[in-house]
Amino acid sequence: VLSARGLTKSFGSNTVLRGIDLDVRRGQVVALIGPSGSGKTTVLRSLNGLEVPDGGTVSFGGTGTFGGAGAAGRAGAGTPLALDFGATVGKRGIAALRDRSAMVFQHYNLFPHMTVLKNVTEGPVQVQKRPKADAEADALRLLARVGLADKRDAYPFQLSGGQQQRVGIVRALALKPQLLLFDEPTSALDPELVGEVLAVIKELAEEGWTMVIVTHELGFARHVADEVVFMDGGIVVERGPAADVLGAPQQERTKQFVKRIQ
Ligand code: ATP
Repeated sequence: VLSARGLTKSFGSNTVLRGIDLDVRRGQVVALIGPSGSGKTTVLRSLNGLEVPDGGTVSFGGTGTFGGAGAAGRAGAGTPLALDFGATVGKRGIAALRDRSAMVFQHYNLFPHMTVLKNVTEGPVQVQKRPKADAEADALRLLARVGLADKRDAYPFQLSGGQQQRVGIVRALALKPQLLLFDEPTSALDPELVGEVLAVIKELAEEGWTMVIVTHELGFARHVADEVVFMDGGIVVERGPAADVLGAPQQERTKQFVKRIQ
């Protein structure tokens, strides 16, 4: 689905990404782990066009169906996309990139003045120009899936953190992306609410969605991810099957990290 090569990014004199390669196959779950400040969030934001890398390439294959295995899909699948950030990437390139993936944020980032239903349908209707009735039917089906059908008219402030994040996930699914990106989806939640959000993510993995998850939950990563990528200091230090990287890391920096966090 996705291939990124040599991504670099600096903020002023702070070089955050020093040449990141990442491959994600269709249906694969990749967990991105590493110490605070290692550049994990910047990688996700670069894949989604929320940051524009200074260099490197990102390409999406055309074979993946939008919307994951279980979804109805939408038009646009079948067209490969390749962007070279070493050259100038225009607004249209960034818009095309943003259309490929959908992000679930650490702090949910719901629109506070919109109901749950409106939060979910806003992107499909305003950005993707889908008919409102279709978008609402889809949204209600997805909300029911995560147990929130009765919250359609509630505002975010009326929901728990776990409920808000489930809405955040539904909002991403409603865009029918090729790739789901999760940026520390449970790290803002009270411990007793983490489980309900991880359960939804696990179900999506089992359903065949393609995802990249930045997480500090190493137990979850081991359980759900096919591949784990360990980053430190803006480079990929180690990558491989979850059981190998987390259970028997080869690199000293990975060993230290895994030991410290568990
Ligand atoms: P964490 O686990 O703490 O979220 P991370 O691995 O996701 O860390 P990033 O959020 O990618 O790391 O940040 C890497 C570095 O980039 C940090 O030093 C951060 O201060 C810097 N940084 C990120 N975004 C910006 C920005 N928009 N402007 C300036 N500096 C930024």
